[in-house]
Amino acid sequence: MTEPSSSIPPAERVFEGIPASAGIAIAHAFILSQDEDPSPHDPRLEAEEIQIELERFAAALAEADKVLEQIEMMARADVRDRAEIFEALRMMLCDPALTLAIEAQIRESSSTARAAIVTETNRLAAIFSASGDETIRSRAEDIRSLQAHLIACIQKAPVDHRFHDSAVLILSTLSPSDTVLYARNQAGAFVLESGGINSHAAILARAFGVPMVAGLKGIARMSRPQGMVIVDGYAGRVIIDPEPATVQQYRERKAALEEQRSNLGSLRDLPAETTDGTRISLAANLDMIDEVDAALENGAEEIGLMRTEYLVMGRSGDVSMEEQYSYYRQLAERAYPLPVTLRAFDIGSEKLAGEIWGRNSSPLGMRGTRLLLARREVLDRQIEAVLRASAMKNLKLMFPMVSSVEEIRRLKEVIADVGGKLRAENIRFDEHMPIGAMLETPAAALTADAFAAECDFLSLGTNDLAQYTLAVDRTDDALASYYDEFHPGILRLIRACSVAARRAGIPLTICGELAANPLATGVLIGLGIRRLSVQPIALGALKMRIRAIDTDTAGRMARDVIRLKTAAEVRGYLMDCA
Ligand code: PEP
Ligand code: MG
Repeated sequence: MTEPSSSIPPAERVFEGIPASAGIAIAHAFILSQDEDPSPHDPRLEAEEIQIELERFAAALAEADKVLEQIEMMARADVRDRAEIFEALRMMLCDPALTLAIEAQIRESSSTARAAIVTETNRLAAIFSASGDETIRSRAEDIRSLQAHLIACIQKAPVDHRFHDSAVLILSTLSPSDTVLYARNQAGAFVLESGGINSHAAILARAFGVPMVAGLKGIARMSRPQGMVIVDGYAGRVIIDPEPATVQQYRERKAALEEQRSNLGSLRDLPAETTDGTRISLAANLDMIDEVDAALENGAEEIGLMRTEYLVMGRSGDVSMEEQYSYYRQLAERAYPLPVTLRAFDIGSEKLAGEIWGRNSSPLGMRGTRLLLARREVLDRQIEAVLRASAMKNLKLMFPMVSSVEEIRRLKEVIADVGGKLRAENIRFDEHMPIGAMLETPAAALTADAFAAECDFLSLGTNDLAQYTLAVDRTDDALASYYDEFHPGILRLIRACSVAARRAGIPLTICGELAANPLATGVLIGLGIRRLSVQPIALGALKMRIRAIDTDTAGRMARDVIRLKTAAEVRGYLMDCA
């Protein structure tokens, strides 16, 4: 076997991580050297050195607090409310539980300040890491970042935050303050070996608009300094040494996204209405609370689908009522006065299937509302938290993957029971919080009139409706060519739902991917759809498309395509119209 010649360019390698902050970067890698194990084997102090070391620690503490205060001020200027992360960090830093423990180590074990900081912060981080609560677990990272701060201050060796030309920074971990400083120094993107969607670094990266992919263990070792990297923060993908064709493809995507963003400014305050003045309501689909800002910036009129699964990721459903309440409440406040449609946990199938949720990975198995009705304690907790958070009257609750109206009836009984309990405890909530169903199975779509009679609103989840109507597992790549939402069978189901909702006089929103597909906009409007909910980033393009359509043409398109026989014929027809 021959050694590869050094003139052969390195092969493209693709890594899938956690999409922690949206955006695309194409740049050179800047690998930030792995921190050495800070655990020092410092010699024991002599008795007369102890007082000096205590003073060094006090000075380092004051210095670290000053540095964090400065970063907090910078963050306040750039990302407003995210600066509160630093307030919390400073409180942790000066918490006597930590500082007294470090001082005691120095005094009683004759440790150097550095060794005492490492021991005590590691101890605290281990306690946080062992918590069953994900929010508390993620605070272990904050403690480690405080450790790095204090040590840098003790050693008088601040981190250098300069690098070149919007580089992609590849790091093992990233503290909140480093995130701010790197972002202000024009980091192109962050690629992290650790972390997740909810770390402070991720929240700040999103606030600064710097793409981030997290959770790629070993990526620093596999990257070349100055090598070309593509970071796709939408998909959570990192491509090392991309082929020229891949670079070209991503350049085009990036340019299209930038153009869309710049067009958006002028479109933002214009209504989403057809050329003949028919208003279409545009809402946003969100997975996480931090995306509320993006929804508002992109002109969403509501949050049409707030997925809640992320709250139970990695847990068996025992996320407490209190934690959920605080999350839903914050969401309601941040979006206020916009309405927010919370979707009850849609667990099973491709979402969070696995060990802790039981063997429910089949799309035809225990999933969504079925699973909630089988796990009453999980359902009751979620309903209680949503009702408690509904006092501002801008929350709605909808249930996924239902196949019979009986499920809705049972859910309404549960809601009434939980509401009765809250009333007995004198807890205020929205007594008329709207309850809706997601039409995602053919059975539900074909009995949309029955659902309309029981619900305050309906939402069409075309991703699943396509999966179940076409009998195609939506996650199976081998079947991708069979999964086509333009199948006339699906369009006919959409028409049936639209007619049922109109007759019942209740709102119907399309919240599946089809809603964002510009090829579909005309035909959906022609089928009578007046509400669309899509990812915030897709709102601008969708509004532009709507403003170029007239309802007569849309109606004709709908009448024509509904008679066609195949998805290919529908696509062909719509392409000709475009
Ligand atoms: C859908 O099925 O269309 C939908 C919006 O829900 P999800 O993609 O979360 O299943
Ligand atoms: Mg769905």
